[in-house]
Amino acid sequence: MTELVRTGGCLCGGVHFEMQGSLRPVLACHCSQCRKTSGHFWAATEVHRDQIDIFDKGTLRWYRSSDHAQRGFCNRCGASLFWRRVGREEFLSIGAGCIDAPTGLVTRAHIFVDDASDYYEVSPSEAQWAGSPQDFDSEPIAPSNGDEFR
Ligand SMILES: [Zn+2]
Ligand SMILES: [Zn+2]
Repeated sequence: MTELVRTGGCLCGGVHFEMQGSLRPVLACHCSQCRKTSGHFWAATEVHRDQIDIFDKGTLRWYRSSDHAQRGFCNRCGASLFWRRVGREEFLSIGAGCIDAPTGLVTRAHIFVDDASDYYEVSPSEAQWAGSPQDFDSEPIAPSNGDEFR
């Protein structure tokens, strides 16, 4: 099987990345922190750090957005790129919109929908959690066995 490589990056090209293997389906987070950092809601896939190479021209910065999380962004164009949980840095969430299309990804669920703003509707045909889904802290969908998500 040919190994699928996906590419992506920020708006100005200061940060770009290449990912190998299967990616977790997209989770869309509607919490107020994700809304404020993205300007809408934050939709992201996730990879193990071993699956991604990040090429940074010196513009990648990390913001400690809460006790639990850091957010990676480009300090030249302002793109929201990454999210990682403190103490779980071996996994990296990647803003799905930063990945070059076609991504082959699907949105699996919406989380923290109780915090969603009032100007849009969360798609009723996609799974929703009021807060964090039970498996939020679990491993991503098997990186080696995610063909159905390509
Ligand atoms: Zn940039
Ligand atoms: Zn969030």
